[in-house]
Amino acid sequence: ASVYAYAGERQLTYTPLDAISTAVESMKASFSQGAMRDMSFRKQQLQSLLQGIRGHRHQLAAAVAADFSKPPTESEFYEIAPVIFEIGQFLKDIDKWARPDKYRLGSEQPVFLMSSMEVRKEPLGTVLIISPWNYPLRLILLPLIGALAAGNTVVLKPSELAPCTAVAVEDLVAQFLDPNVVCVVQGAAAETTELLRHRFDHFFFTGSGTVGRLVGKAAMEHLAGVTLELGGKSPAIVHHDVADLGPAAMRIMWSKLTTAGQTCVATDYVMVHRVVKDRFVQLCKNFIENAYTRTPHKSPDYARIINRRHWQRIMDLLSATTGTVLQVCDDRPDQSDRYIPPTLVDNVAFDDPLMVDELFAPVLPIITYDSLDEVLQFVNSRDQPLALYAFGSSKTTEFIFTNTRSGTAVANETMFVSAASNFPFGGVGASGIGRYMGKASFDTFSNHRTVLQAPLALPPPAIDSVRSPPFTGPEN
Ligand code: NAD
Repeated sequence: ASVYAYAGERQLTYTPLDAISTAVESMKASFSQGAMRDMSFRKQQLQSLLQGIRGHRHQLAAAVAADFSKPPTESEFYEIAPVIFEIGQFLKDIDKWARPDKYRLGSEQPVFLMSSMEVRKEPLGTVLIISPWNYPLRLILLPLIGALAAGNTVVLKPSELAPCTAVAVEDLVAQFLDPNVVCVVQGAAAETTELLRHRFDHFFFTGSGTVGRLVGKAAMEHLAGVTLELGGKSPAIVHHDVADLGPAAMRIMWSKLTTAGQTCVATDYVMVHRVVKDRFVQLCKNFIENAYTRTPHKSPDYARIINRRHWQRIMDLLSATTGTVLQVCDDRPDQSDRYIPPTLVDNVAFDDPLMVDELFAPVLPIITYDSLDEVLQFVNSRDQPLALYAFGSSKTTEFIFTNTRSGTAVANETMFVSAASNFPFGGVGASGIGRYMGKASFDTFSNHRTVLQAPLALPPPAIDSVRSPPFTGPEN
C-alpha cells in the first residue's frame, strides 16, 4: 500500500462487520503477548510514524483537500506540523514521563519507613480511538501518539465523512506501523457501534455530544476509562477596555473562518460591548475582505462545508435568524459546491435560532451587551464551552474567568491555544471529559499503578497491634 493512493484512486472500503471482532482480538492478543512492553520499540514506532508523515506531508494534505477543499496550508499548519511537533516532544520526554513517581512517606507516617512506594506508568491495554472529519489527520494521529507511547495496542476508527483522509491514514498505518500493534477499522455508525460492543481498556472519542454519549455509555458498560473530546458553543467576549480592537477582530475572525468555521475551538458567537460594537464589526468586515476578497468562492484559502446535509442545516439557520445578516461578500452560497461565504449576523438575540446548537459554520452571530453581568448570566446559563475567549484589560479577563467555567480560557487570543503542545486540552461538562496532548496524553493512556513494596522482616511493632485482635483500644 502507498499513501499516494489517496484522492479517489482508492475508494474507502468499510470493514465488514464480521471482521471487526478478529481485528480487535488480534490487538488484544498482541498486547497480552507483550508486543508493546519494550520502550525502544515504542520509540521506533513513533520514529517510523514521524518518517511516514514527513515523507508524505503533501499527499496527506492533498487527501484532506480532496475531502472538503480544506486549504493544504491549513492542514500543514494545524494538522501536520502539530503532529510532527508532538512526536518530537514524545521522543524527547517519554523516558521522563514513563519514570515511576517515587514516594517517601516515612517522615509523615513512620509505619512506612521501611517500605518503598511508587506509582508506575503502565499501559492500559488495547484502546479504541474514534475521530471526526474536521481535522481528520490531527484528531486521529495526536491521540495515537499518546496511546502508542504509553504502550497500548490501538484500534483506529477514522471518520467516513472524510473518506480520502481515512484511506490515507489507513495506508500510512499499513506502511509505517507494525500491524500487530495498530489496526484501522473503517466505517460509519454501524461499524462504530460494533466496535463499541467490545471491551476496550480505554475509549478515546472526538466528535459530537450525541455520539459521545453513546461512547460514554459503552465505556461504562465495560467499566472502562473514557475520554470524550466534544464541542459546543465557545464564546468570544470583547469588552470596551480591550487595548486594541484590530487584533481582537482578526483573531476572532481567524478562528471563525479557518476550515470555514468547522473547528471545535472556533469562536461560535461573539458578545461585544455596545461602545465598541460598530468599530469591531467594521474590522471584521475588513478582515474578510483582506483575507478572502469580496468573492471568497474564488479564494484557494477557503474551505467548503463537509456535506450537503450540513450545508442545508446552515442555510436553514440563516433563513430562520431574526438578526441582521450583513452584506460582506459579493458572492452567494452555492449548494453544488457546498460553499457558504463568511457571514456576519448583527443584532442577534439570546434566543435566536443561531444561538441553540454549535454552529460549525462560517457564520458569526454578534450579540451586543451593556454590562458584563449580562454576559456572565448568559454564558453561565448554557452548557460549559470547550473554550472561552475574553478580550479586555487583565482585570476584565480575570473577572470573566473567575465567574465562568470552560475547558480552556484564553485572554486576548483565540484557538491559538491549541497549538500549545504539552498543554492539557479538553472540555468540561457537555464539552468533554478528560485531557490530552503531551504529558496529559501519556497519562490518559497509562495505568497509574500504585506499587508498595513492604519488608517482611522488621515490621514496626505498632502495626501488628492493630492487625490482630484483641484490640487494647486507641492509644493516647
Ligand atoms: P460525530 O460525532 O458525528 O462523528 C464522530 C465519529 O463518530 C465518526 O468517526 C463517526 O463515524 C462516528 N459516528 C457517527 N455517528 C455514530 C453513531 N450513531 N454511532 C456510533 N458512531 C457514530 O462528529 P463529527 O461530525 O465527525 O465532528 C463534529 C463534532 O466534533 C463537533 O461537535 C465538534 O465540536 C467536535 N469536535 C471536537 C473536538 C475536540 O477536540 N474537542 C475536535 C474536533 C471536533
